[in-house]
Amino acid sequence: MSTRTVPTLAELRPAPKVLLHDHLDGGLRPATVAELAETTGYQGLPTSDPVELGRWFRDAADSGSLESYLETFAHTCGVMQTEEALVRVAAECAEDLAADGVVYAEVRYAPELFVERGLSLDAVIEAVQAGFTEGERRAAERGHRIRTGTLLCAMRQHARALQIAELAVRYRDAGVVGFDIAGPEAGFPPTRNLDAFEYLRTNNAHFTIHAGEAFGLASIWEAIQHCGAERLGHGVRIVDDVKVAADGQVQLGRLAAYVRDRRIPLEVCPSSNVQTGAAPSIAEHPIGLLARLRFRVTINTDNRLMSDCTLSSEFATLAETFGYGWADVQWFTINALKSAFIDFDERLDLINNVIKPWYAPRL
Ligand SMILES: [Zn+2]
Repeated sequence: MSTRTVPTLAELRPAPKVLLHDHLDGGLRPATVAELAETTGYQGLPTSDPVELGRWFRDAADSGSLESYLETFAHTCGVMQTEEALVRVAAECAEDLAADGVVYAEVRYAPELFVERGLSLDAVIEAVQAGFTEGERRAAERGHRIRTGTLLCAMRQHARALQIAELAVRYRDAGVVGFDIAGPEAGFPPTRNLDAFEYLRTNNAHFTIHAGEAFGLASIWEAIQHCGAERLGHGVRIVDDVKVAADGQVQLGRLAAYVRDRRIPLEVCPSSNVQTGAAPSIAEHPIGLLARLRFRVTINTDNRLMSDCTLSSEFATLAETFGYGWADVQWFTINALKSAFIDFDERLDLINNVIKPWYAPRL
């Protein structure tokens, strides 16, 4: 890893970046949560003051367990039950990411969480896509080029994965680029949804699986070898299959070696992992070792509202902690683009015409 100049947050912001793991319902602006609660008649927010609300989300998510972390989503999902709300949240998501220098983003959400007031799953997906199109347009007006794609998530604890997978395939030419399974890992192994994964593979569709966040190697192994996941959402517990001896000698177990050899992307979300207790601190986060061993590591935000972060701030924290320089930031960024679910041609275009030219003079 480079020990040259460590870029600051201000320098990282305009740098073209790529985001693969970001939840739509985890990235609302606090002011938007408050306003949508007002306009949609959602009761139950702890406060309507945007500043206090922003702080409340971060503190509530800071609890140390994945289950409590997920509770904060009751409020964001609560205000996202109308078409107008979904359009607005998606448009602002694209705008905020573009303003943060993100040039390509895959944003995920579970359509089934937004049907409480009678929207159909199709209506949810169409509203979100309309929002992203609008957000890309507004960003372009301000000179920010961003391309977004969405991933449809099925929730582990529900039993609708096949139906959601069918929607991911049906909307794949309309902005949906892949599929994911999210929600609590404990008690809900990805193998419960084998029919959905088989359907996706049969249709040559892309998918990632949240695995190896709170749970260990078994869930990573299942996600890859039983389900056929192309990427791992988090995946950081793969470090449990890596032995580092006192003299620094590193030995990879069979699964860790497989993940590294096959270049299976890890969608690492550092701040989120610290909040949920998947890592004790950024300094002790497995990303340091995994990046050093050249796993296909990508850097992600997970939930910008709950973690009070941006992709730039995640990079700034890592740069400060691990001494990463521009070469490292470019490496993570190209890793992410190589792992994206859009066409090869589009990925190559972004790498060669956007990423490399920007970083080249800084290396
Ligand atoms: Zn996630």
